[in-house]
Amino acid sequence: MPDKEKKKLDLNRREMPKQLPEVRRQNFNEDALGYPEETAIQEALRCLQCRNPKCVAMCPVEIDIPGFIKCIAENDFFGGIRVLKNKNLLPAVCGRVCPQEEQCEKGCILSKKGAPVAIGRLERFLADWEAAQGEPEVPPIPKPTGKKVAVVGGGPAGLTVAGDLIKLGHQITIFEALHEMGGVLIYGIPEFRLPKAIVKREVEYLKKLGVEIITDFVVGKTRTVDSLLQEYDAIFVGSGAGLPWFMEVPGENLNGVYSANEYLTRMNLMKGFLFPQYDTPIKNHQHVAVIGGGNVAMDCARTALRLGAEEVHIIYRRSRQEMPARLEEIENAEEEGVIFDYLTLPVRYIGDENGWVQEIECLKMELGEPDASGRRRPVPIEGSNYIIPMDAVVCAIGNSPNPLIPETTPGLEVGKWGNIKVDEETGKTSKDRVWAGGDVVSGAATVILAMGAGRIAARSIHEYLVG
Ligand code: FAD
Repeated sequence: MPDKEKKKLDLNRREMPKQLPEVRRQNFNEDALGYPEETAIQEALRCLQCRNPKCVAMCPVEIDIPGFIKCIAENDFFGGIRVLKNKNLLPAVCGRVCPQEEQCEKGCILSKKGAPVAIGRLERFLADWEAAQGEPEVPPIPKPTGKKVAVVGGGPAGLTVAGDLIKLGHQITIFEALHEMGGVLIYGIPEFRLPKAIVKREVEYLKKLGVEIITDFVVGKTRTVDSLLQEYDAIFVGSGAGLPWFMEVPGENLNGVYSANEYLTRMNLMKGFLFPQYDTPIKNHQHVAVIGGGNVAMDCARTALRLGAEEVHIIYRRSRQEMPARLEEIENAEEEGVIFDYLTLPVRYIGDENGWVQEIECLKMELGEPDASGRRRPVPIEGSNYIIPMDAVVCAIGNSPNPLIPETTPGLEVGKWGNIKVDEETGKTSKDRVWAGGDVVSGAATVILAMGAGRIAARSIHEYLVG
């Protein structure tokens, strides 16, 4: 390794190769291509191996970041993957979709100089390197404790709870409503950002650890939480926030107006872009408007481009500065040619004689004083209405938890937005032997926060199970 002085001076964060924008907007393959081995080692050598690493403190699942980076720098990739997987069962996923710039990389001491170590890219490198070696190493599982835990939902929160508890010797069954595991990772985040083979590989790893997986099982319909409690010692609810919000403006029932959930599920889970090889079609829209400014909106807009739309607009009521999407995703969309209509609010959708959306009436906005979220409040400019022609609208303004489980589970307390209430320290709900975490508690958030919540709940469930 070079001496410390030399490492301190290396502010040259290594770029990750990507497909060119004009190429990638025409295919569904992953746009970012990952670090080659040599680049990963060079990037790892930039890490200063701080004695009190802020990156770890900023990671919701407490990965030993300097530990795995040191292994890469020393060419010990097996060692690195062991360190990484000790705390994170989904490294290939997190390496791709975590908002590292707001978490671990923000804590990196080199970020003060403007170029933090590319922790996410290194995490992804190790996970992909392991996958290329064939079968993953399975850690030793302790003797069975005889305790049974049911996990509701196969998204990041549920997968983390299952992984943590099986490694402590408990028997785990995941009940998933859909026919595929992975939650939003499989039905929401598009293939070009997170290839589905990666999610499947990480789920397979859990199966190898011994987790039982039951799909097409809707808790609250197939069986209730109370009925599962008769068979299981504890239950973790990680059922996500899959209920889409709409704007409640005239014309939202027109054909061609989708929720982001429907649009992305048709594409990702049902493989609409491969119709008629797959059963679920997706119409070939030419002028698509996506309403919203988060990661979900970026995913919808970039998906529409790849489906062959001639023009795709993001309509957002604030300015670029207030957009909640990751900067990287905004830049990707811009590079690919998505048009951003800032300070714009749709007020009405107008249809043709067959009930298909044809135009959107919009209103221009200006920014006023900051609201409760700290962002400047958008204020309508009176009389600024105008019409834009569009043959599809995708509404990506947010989601809340599906009410099915709370409605069928007496004693489960919920908050104003239908989110399950828990003790933050433990993930325990108001109902005995029931824990919850992830988007169903926090509302739509991030993969790593869902995993962090799963980890907290798993710890508490284990303490309860072992008395
Ligand atoms: P989910 O992933 O929603 O999983 C919940 C699972 O529970 C689902 O599989 C669902 O089918 C199942 N379920 C629901 N009800 C029942 C029931 N009654 N019985 C059985 N099973 C049930 N986060 C990031 O960090 N980075 C990103 O780039 C990013 N991009 C995103 C893009 C999109 C399009 C979307 C929608 C979200 C994105 N997120 C991103 C957010 C992130 O994916 C979620 O915060 C995370 O998946 C939440 O995990 P979860 O386990 O709580 O819930």
